[in-house]
Order: sequence, then C-alpha cells, then structure tokens
Amino acid sequence: MRQDRRWEIFECHRCGKCCVEIGLPYDPDIIFEIAQFLDLTVDQVIERYYGRVTEDREFWVSEDHKRTPCPFLKSDGDGKKTCAIYQVRPMSCRLYPFDTDSGRQGVDCPGAKIVYARLEEEEA
Ligand code: SF4
Ligand code: SF4
Repeated sequence: MRQDRRWEIFECHRCGKCCVEIGLPYDPDIIFEIAQFLDLTVDQVIERYYGRVTEDREFWVSEDHKRTPCPFLKSDGDGKKTCAIYQVRPMSCRLYPFDTDSGRQGVDCPGAKIVYARLEEEEA
C-alpha cells in the first residue's frame, strides 16, 4: 500500500492539522487495543473519548459527539505535535493523508502539498 511514490516522498510535518480538523476517528478493529493501552474498558474509552457511535454506520462517531481536536493530540517539547496513543492509533490515522476515505482528505496538509508539487515537477 505504501509502495507508491507519494509515500516515498511524504514527510509528516507534525503540525497536527489533521488531528485538529478531522478529530478522533472511530475504528472498531483497534478500539480494544486502545482500551488496553489506556488501561480502560472499551465502554470507558467510548464514553470518555467518543460519546457514542451511530447504530446505522457503526464505523462513524456521531457528528454531535465528534471530538475535535482529537483528545490524544499532544505538543512535544520541540513545538511539534505528537499522538499520545501512537502505537495503537486508528487505521485512518495511519493511512492519512493518501490512503484514507474522502472524508479525511479535506485538510490542507503541508506534507501532502509538497508531495503533489513534487510529483507535478517530476511529471513535467
Ligand atoms: S496535516 Fe499532514 S503534515 Fe500535518 S500532522 Fe497531519 S499528516 Fe502530518
Ligand atoms: S489518534 Fe493520534 S494520530 Fe489519530 S487523530 Fe488522534 S492524535 Fe491524531
């Protein structure tokens, strides 16, 4: 998946824009690992960090309860942003900015911008 040229060029600036603007994604496949990592139950994680998950589209957190910015976004000493649950972060976070659904593509990601500019140069 990450063999494509975009991932080869991409460098995350750790600006945190994606985590601020999109917020915490709900990932049913990793929620148990997040709970274990935080030493909480799955219900406690959902209650504390998500509010509730919609019944019809269980993958999505209700818009009413969308957590923006993501509560796990932290500032590092060097002024960069970091993820407090990096080891167990949701899959959408791992795949951003190129391999996520369209809902995660609206952020003005500086790393992705550089990639697309570079690809344009290469193709010119
Ligand atoms: S918006 Fe882009 S550069 Fe900034 S933290 Fe997210 S992935 Fe990294
Ligand atoms: S879980 Fe981590 S990577 Fe994902 S949105 Fe939150 S701070 Fe960003």
